[in-house]
Amino acid sequence: MRCRTILPGLAIALSSFSALAVDTVVLQNARVFDGREDLGVVDIVVEGGRIAHVGDAGDPKWRDARRIDYTGKHVLPGLVSNHSHVGNTEGLEHGDRFYTRDNVVRDLRQFQRYGVTTVTSLGMNGEAFTAIRDEISNDATLGAQLYGAGAGIGAVAGAPPAQIMGLANDPVARPATPDQARAAVRSQKDSGVDLIKLWVDDLDGRFPMMAPAIYRAAIDEAHRVDLRVAAHIHDHAQAADLVDAGVDIIAHGIRDEAVSPALAKAMKDEGVWYIPTVSIDEANYLYAENPAWLATPFLRNALPAAVAARWSDPDWQSQQLAGANIPGARKAVETNLRNLRTLHEAGVSIGFGTDAGAMPQRVIGFAEHRELELMTMAGFTPAQALAVATSDAARLQGLDDRGLVATGKRADLLVLDADPLQDILNTRRIHAVWQAGRQVSDGPSDDAHAP
Ligand SMILES: [Zn+2]
Repeated sequence: MRCRTILPGLAIALSSFSALAVDTVVLQNARVFDGREDLGVVDIVVEGGRIAHVGDAGDPKWRDARRIDYTGKHVLPGLVSNHSHVGNTEGLEHGDRFYTRDNVVRDLRQFQRYGVTTVTSLGMNGEAFTAIRDEISNDATLGAQLYGAGAGIGAVAGAPPAQIMGLANDPVARPATPDQARAAVRSQKDSGVDLIKLWVDDLDGRFPMMAPAIYRAAIDEAHRVDLRVAAHIHDHAQAADLVDAGVDIIAHGIRDEAVSPALAKAMKDEGVWYIPTVSIDEANYLYAENPAWLATPFLRNALPAAVAARWSDPDWQSQQLAGANIPGARKAVETNLRNLRTLHEAGVSIGFGTDAGAMPQRVIGFAEHRELELMTMAGFTPAQALAVATSDAARLQGLDDRGLVATGKRADLLVLDADPLQDILNTRRIHAVWQAGRQVSDGPSDDAHAP
């Protein structure tokens, strides 16, 4: 009797052992940036979706493993976006009517092709958000891993402005009283969101601002139910009051004035994260100003055909650059870069985000690589920018299973043909993307390897 019960168990143990052994892959001889520092040339052993070892893979137990020679390649953790959107666009249009499972998967696959393997969709998600998130978390072929804030909490008749954002069947909660704010937080908690998003912005005086009593109640209630709060802001005054109210994440850069030493100190002391999203304002003129970029596969392959066609039109380009909003957008970028430098130097924790996916000009995938470049314009070294986009961004989200090339972490990896620590533009030379221990993409284009 005993033997009969033990033998099947042993057989199961042996078969699962050999299944794991078959799954083992050794990535050999790559130069590795582990999310914090350059490790030099090492091997990475991938087993069962995780990193089993970083270093020399000469151990006999890996003798039969599949081996991939990455000599001359550069490996870093898959990028982590703390502020993006999915399922909000279709061609030249945007709005809540595009929030379908297939459009979310379309966007998450595009993030993944561009090396972004974890995405937080920070608001304007439809009701299907949690079901889609849960489906995708089990299947790396469906795109980047998704987290998010559900629909989020906005101002009554204010940000996010329903008309501008195309919210015909507006999913955003818009509480008019502190009690309604608390109820909105509890309802989003019950639906399974990962964090709470607030919009505190009057969009240059054009819309009513969410009242402090509303956001203070929402922050308090979110913390009571163990959720963190990310706030969309534009101006210093709102950022300062939100930090005073206990907000966890400032989700855009401060763009109206220089950040004060008092606010920098408060953010550092309270451990408040800061996601600059410098590319959000630049997206209003960047593509019109650089039409030659449209010929590069790295941008071209990120654009729906209708968008590429419109942006190629010289009339559109000159109209866009003559827009009344453009001087303000340029000034916002300058202020954002300056404040990013100030806050970084003050020791404030910086997160990684772009607002990609909210509108067609916030180009999924391309925006992330541009944001890395913009960070170097704010004084970050390439290694510092990449640490923000990997280990720090994972820490912002409380995801301790990723963001580092280290034993036990998820095998979410970006493999490049050239050294990103020498030149941040080399993040665009994508050779392969790995997610959960398997290669899921060879980058956004066939000829992306060309200089
Ligand atoms: Zn956003």
